[in-house]
Amino acid sequence: MSARYDVVVIGCGHNGLVAAATLARAGLRVLALEQRDVVGGACVTESPWPGWRISTAAYVVSLLHPRVVRELELARFGYEAYRKDPASFTPLDDGRSLLLGSDEAANAAEVARFDASDVGGLRRFGEDAERWGAHVYETLAAPAPSRDVLAARWGAHDAQAILEASAADLVRRYVRTPVLQATLATDGLIGTFAGPELAGTGYVLAHHYAGRALGVQGAWGFVRGGMGGITRALALALRSAGGAIRTQAEVERIVVEGGRARGVVLRDGTEIGADHVLSNAAPHRTFLDMLPIDALDAAFVARVRAWRCEGVSLKVNFALGELPRFTARPGTQLQAHHRATIHVAPSLAYLQQGYDDAAAGGISRAPLLECFMQSPTDASIAPPGKHLLSVFAQWFPYGRQGGWSAARRDEAADLVLATLARYAPNLPNAVEMRQVLAPPDLEGLLGLHRGHIFHGELLPGQIFQGRFAARTPLEGLYLCGSGAHPGGCVIGTPGLLAAEAVVADAARAAG
Ligand SMILES: Cc1cc2nc3c(=O)[nH]c(=O)nc-3n(C[C@H](O)[C@H](O)[C@H](O)COP(=O)(O)OP(=O)(O)OC[C@H]3O[C@@H](n4cnc5c(N)ncnc54)[C@H](O)[C@@H]3O)c2cc1C
Repeated sequence: MSARYDVVVIGCGHNGLVAAATLARAGLRVLALEQRDVVGGACVTESPWPGWRISTAAYVVSLLHPRVVRELELARFGYEAYRKDPASFTPLDDGRSLLLGSDEAANAAEVARFDASDVGGLRRFGEDAERWGAHVYETLAAPAPSRDVLAARWGAHDAQAILEASAADLVRRYVRTPVLQATLATDGLIGTFAGPELAGTGYVLAHHYAGRALGVQGAWGFVRGGMGGITRALALALRSAGGAIRTQAEVERIVVEGGRARGVVLRDGTEIGADHVLSNAAPHRTFLDMLPIDALDAAFVARVRAWRCEGVSLKVNFALGELPRFTARPGTQLQAHHRATIHVAPSLAYLQQGYDDAAAGGISRAPLLECFMQSPTDASIAPPGKHLLSVFAQWFPYGRQGGWSAARRDEAADLVLATLARYAPNLPNAVEMRQVLAPPDLEGLLGLHRGHIFHGELLPGQIFQGRFAARTPLEGLYLCGSGAHPGGCVIGTPGLLAAEAVVADAARAAG
């Protein structure tokens, strides 16, 4: 072995960096290895076009755990987040639209224009969704509890809502306006190969209400300068604690000797020894690609093979010469709705059809869209007078029939643009450049297995004790990425929990 460390971390996504920085601060000699030339994984800011700062994948923050921010002193290293308000804007074909935010009176007036009887329902939904989110929040920074423990803590009603219900059922219990139902249900569908009627999508919805990064349960916001502000701060925290980072260092395999992980071998043949190996890569890559075939028992390997991890999310970043002019809210001058998440989600039936198209082997012909523009509130994102429109679209499966060619990527991006142009007709002429990332691109560029944004579905069987734990069956090997509890999104606690497991195991070994 050419070098030896206490800890080697495979991958510098935000979770790998949290694990590495936590362990370096605990006094261990840590080396973090990243295959790309930039750290951050799916939480990164890059400049494919001069003068633009693009959050290539993740674009908004909510779940980043306050313990991570506090213990690693991320504010000292430049991390700053601010709330996105209004929260959501959903335009309709008939010229109406729905704008929702933190102002309850304004929300009531918006909803009353559709159906006054939904005003109280929306308020009750908001209260209950915050409570579901708070329940999930309490599970984020500790090893996964059993279902029985969760049911005892939450009560039967909330346990059913979070662990069993579909997103569609949940919203139908509170409101009946189609656009309001669909707007609220989108949180249950993000990143997920499921339609709104699938039992278990209620958990995906609760997960998206679990964050407190903005100091308000369930609120979402932007990171100043883009999402790379998080991973830049984490890398600085790691280095300031004495840890090292090596980029362009792809790990080819994990060395196993005497029944435990002992280090890694890079693609260029470099061997690096370590007492503890942490993997930020997804479960398939960690357990099936990087380990010898006999390192794990057959039952565990079967579990990894059965892990549901089919990415369906397409990201398109558009550089715009002017703001979108919505038919429902005319004008290209900056207005409140330009700061909100812009949804194309007119009804639950529309969302179900979008999913059904993909489940039949194709792509959504009328996709669910979630669009964000940070440039109106952060001048560092785009050159003066220009705007960045980031679109997250579903469902565009990794394994669609006929595969993904360059022409099919372009067709998908054209479909996204045409869908948006129904509501904002100036958009096609406003687009100056675009970056298209289909699931195979998310895999090729960011290392996300089959392009899945969470390293595997957040659905029943793959959450809490159904998710992988930080400790793996192979001694000395830990999973510190989103495939481990509590799962995907920019949270940081899969990394924190893995670091805590290493510290506890090292202390036990030292006697
Ligand atoms: C398009 C998109 C939009 C999203 N939007 C949001 C959002 O707005 N908000 C939010 O909270 N979440 C969002 N998510 C989800 C969130 O970004 C991810 O769940 C999370 O960032 C995953 O973090 P991670 O550290 O676990 O893994 P990753 O970010 O996947 O990091 C893993 C790292 O390991 C590296 N790696 C893998 N294998 C090797 C190897 N063999 N050798 C060396 N390095 C290796 C990879 O290059 C990568 O850097 C989004 C994701 C995507 C893709």
